[in-house]
Amino acid sequence: MNWTNYHTHTFYCDGECNLKDHVRQAIENQMLAVGFSSHAPVPFQSDWHIKQEDVKAYLQEIKHLKTVYPQVQIYTGLEIDFIPDVIGPGDFKAYNLDVVVGSVHYIGQYADGEYFCMDFTAEELAHGLREVYANDVQAMIRTYYERVQMMVQQDPPDIIGHLDLIKKLNKGNRFFDETQTWYKEIVKETVEVISNSNCIVEINTRGFYQGKTEEFYPSKWILELCFAKNIPVTISSDAHHFAELENNFGEAAELLLSIGYQEVQVYLDDKWGDAKFSSKGLQLS
Ligand SMILES: [Zn+2]
Ligand SMILES: [Zn+2]
Repeated sequence: MNWTNYHTHTFYCDGECNLKDHVRQAIENQMLAVGFSSHAPVPFQSDWHIKQEDVKAYLQEIKHLKTVYPQVQIYTGLEIDFIPDVIGPGDFKAYNLDVVVGSVHYIGQYADGEYFCMDFTAEELAHGLREVYANDVQAMIRTYYERVQMMVQQDPPDIIGHLDLIKKLNKGNRFFDETQTWYKEIVKETVEVISNSNCIVEINTRGFYQGKTEEFYPSKWILELCFAKNIPVTISSDAHHFAELENNFGEAAELLLSIGYQEVQVYLDDKWGDAKFSSKGLQLS
């Protein structure tokens, strides 16, 4: 349907298809726009970020696709990690990206200097929690949200990636309970900070369709807080394969409508704007 999605990954990073595959699928789906957001290079060893030496080819290939497939709007972008004093969206200004997704995946460092990523497995999260946070769950989660706040205040992206990613590996409340007051407070504080920025919050369907989370990122109660603070939203699937380009968009739209949202943010004709929507797609005037 005529959706847009600016959060996608390919073989350039940890995705499982080519740029062209996403574009062809987007055309088949009759989407209005597709944007690419490879994990931006980081200044340390990683097997899931695009390599610095490949960025040029990545951007050139996107540029080329724009000329080959005029049926759909195609945009450059990166999903840029925010690590205080190490890396952030501002480090990629020179690339003049169309759409910048900013995400926190790292929440500290091990004694040997290795960065603690909280996005892999529950076992690795438990390991980092023990080694980096001496099993203090609240301290770990506070750090996550404090980093999101720092990013929004100091180095804001266009889109805040998967706002409550910290719940990804929390199946069965293994690490924490989202309904507890301390958790709600830090989330509320974060939403307040976002409301004082121009950042867009994405409703990201990936954790849900991967079967990892019971709700989308972020959870409904967080989207309700966002709505109350007039924070704009966009729908994305964080697609790592072209078959995932519109996963659960209808449900995401229904959820947003049920909360009261009447518009989502779309990047079309090289600029951000509002679009009305239903569970069947965008309704552009
Ligand atoms: Zn991410
Ligand atoms: Zn992503």
